[in-house]
Amino acid sequence: MRRSLVAGNWKMNGSRKSALELATALGDVIFEKTDVVIAPPTPHLDAMRSALTSADVLLAGQDCSEHEKGAYTGETSVLMLRELGCSHVIVGHSERRQFFGDSDQRVALKVSRVVAAGLIPIICVGETLLERQDSMTEKVIERQVAAALSQIHDKAKLSMIVAYEPVWAIGTGESANPEQAQKVHLLIRDFLSKYDVVLSESTRILYGGSVKSDNAASLFAMPDIDGGLVGGASLDAKSFINICRSTA
Ligand code: PEP
Repeated sequence: MRRSLVAGNWKMNGSRKSALELATALGDVIFEKTDVVIAPPTPHLDAMRSALTSADVLLAGQDCSEHEKGAYTGETSVLMLRELGCSHVIVGHSERRQFFGDSDQRVALKVSRVVAAGLIPIICVGETLLERQDSMTEKVIERQVAAALSQIHDKAKLSMIVAYEPVWAIGTGESANPEQAQKVHLLIRDFLSKYDVVLSESTRILYGGSVKSDNAASLFAMPDIDGGLVGGASLDAKSFINICRSTA
């Protein structure tokens, strides 16, 4: 049985104060069935790490550089994220692909950096509305997954997490319905089985795209949805904790 995981992606939102508030709120809560990961903005990672009292709540970077180190002004390396206490790094988020030119090739390099540093990549894949309307969902998802896995060895593949995030559902308030999401999750699992059956069965596949307290339970009840990557709703401690409690 795959253990559920819920990750909160704050994007470029929230303050040091709100990061400390979430860390404090999470401190009292025990999640028996779920791993919880928070990705605050990089400048707040350190404060959040100091304030988190539960060893069960983990930290993630929202992105990383594809380079190890050097003259790359403004970038954050995986080694820096590791020093800041991150165990996970989100890679290939659609906003990075759309606004910062993260191609499949760059995403693959980033995934390999994350793995080389001993951290766990949360690999985001998802189709745009236009691609869905053109019946391209399967092709796009398979291309993105294959590229992301192309630079890592088999053992590292076993610890990765995949997040299916249809671009049309991110930050729009319009979530995929549970059946729509389940269909693509199953497609991803079937695709992974071409690499290895154990990989396909053990990989946690998260759904992301307008997950809220009121739709989380129905999404997480689907057989191939192993938790969520939550944007907007993770900024509010109460709703994020409710979502973490909604796992099947
Ligand atoms: C995200 O940022 O990955 C996301 C899914 O955002 P939201 O939950 O706000 O749609």
